[in-house]
Amino acid sequence: MESRTRLILDRETLARRVAELGAQLSRDYRGLDPVFVGILKGAFIFLADLVRALEFPVEVDFVRAASYGAGTESSGVIRVTKEVELPLAGRHVLLVEDIVDMGLTLDFLRRHLAAKEPASLKICCLIDKRERRQVEVPLDYVGFVVPGGFLVGYGLDCGEKLRTLPEVYAVDTGGGD
Ligand code: 5GP
Ligand code: MG
Repeated sequence: MESRTRLILDRETLARRVAELGAQLSRDYRGLDPVFVGILKGAFIFLADLVRALEFPVEVDFVRAASYGAGTESSGVIRVTKEVELPLAGRHVLLVEDIVDMGLTLDFLRRHLAAKEPASLKICCLIDKRERRQVEVPLDYVGFVVPGGFLVGYGLDCGEKLRTLPEVYAVDTGGGD
């Protein structure tokens, strides 16, 4: 397969922005004993770096959703495949996502967690890819805004490959998405 990759975010750029987000979250969540909920699988590296950029320890949990239907894109039929395990009622919750594209997954998970009646529920995503947004989801903390393209690395996969790259690349597979 003919494929080209283009560097989008290098290690220094990622580290600098994660440090900034960590400082901002440290100010906003100080004394609130928050729970950071990472969306599997893509957010695991971002979340790991983010919590270590905070000035105090937080509780961490994970949730996972899958979408079903025709094609490789989100179909709108989404269900939780790995539930959050910590009780979230009355807690200050930050949902941590790798990338927001159409917004369907995040909108679904935001409603799913809101139903657990947290004291507050905010969203932090590393990358906001706005071009194909279908559902407006309130993004409280955003690492980077990118126009489009299919991105890999720093947790983002392509068919389970390339997640472990320390930088973010755009993959051009010569057509399609
Ligand atoms: P949605 O379209 O519902 O906003 O995004 C669904 C999921 O698709 C995201 O959580 C993310 O895991 C995945 N996704 C969206 N855009 C990209 C991308 O550019 N690269 C990768 N690897 N995954 C993406
Ligand atoms: Mg994701």
